[in-house]
Amino acid sequence: MINEKVIEVKDLVKKFGSFVANDNLTFDVYRGEIFGFLGANGAGKTTTLRILSGLSKPTSGDVRVAGFDIYRHAERVKRHIGYMCQKFSLYEDLTVAENIMLYGGIYGLPKKLIEGKTTELLESMDFTAYRKRIIGDLPLGMRQKLAFAVAILHDPDIVFLDEPTGGVDPITRRQFWEMIYKASADGITVFVTTHYMDEAEYCDRVSIMSEGRIVDIDSPAGLKDKYRCATVQDVFVKIARPSNNKTG
Ligand code: ATP
Repeated sequence: MINEKVIEVKDLVKKFGSFVANDNLTFDVYRGEIFGFLGANGAGKTTTLRILSGLSKPTSGDVRVAGFDIYRHAERVKRHIGYMCQKFSLYEDLTVAENIMLYGGIYGLPKKLIEGKTTELLESMDFTAYRKRIIGDLPLGMRQKLAFAVAILHDPDIVFLDEPTGGVDPITRRQFWEMIYKASADGITVFVTTHYMDEAEYCDRVSIMSEGRIVDIDSPAGLKDKYRCATVQDVFVKIARPSNNKTG
């Protein structure tokens, strides 16, 4: 992890009508960091993720991603990030190779480069035999690993992962996280939401959100120490409950 801010968020507010989905969020994320964004269902995680990815505008606040102001340069932000959601990241009726070609084209990579990257990627993942297989026929874990590889095909500064391992078995989740570590070591910042608390333990830092607000941000060890808990799961149960905010 390098001491260079790639995401800078100050007093971010996002309202839907009178409902406040993101309530004055302030945080920074660093280059190469694996940043876990946790919160119960409806806490406001996807809302933030969509703003940071340039897909939605904040109601107010300062947000810079990969050095670009999100209000003025959302299109530039999009060129510097990768995005992967829980489902529908790849086209189910296209083959593995066709998906990689398609996304490479969307990211503006030259055809020759995409062809080279496709071979390299499939070899490194031991997927060469699946090159011509239809995505929809592959197991979920395999699809998700491939979707992650595709999300970083263009060497983005940051990759946003929204519950990438939902429904994936523990062994494949572990392999998925090996890919995350490699991306981080290569200098890609990984911004990940998850409901799996074992995965939260793998992050460099974790933000825990409740009812639109960030309750705390720290390393897993720092959080466990502060709240006198054995696991991040115990910390989460202690501080992420909605009633927590109401009682202060
Ligand atoms: P989950 O873990 O279930 O994915 P989340 O933390 O990602 O939850 P969000 O999807 O960000 O939560 O939603 C936060 C709140 O904002 C929810 O109450 C949701 O109903 C509301 N919300 C999200 N998008 C909209 C929208 N376009 N219009 C109105 N309300 C919305």
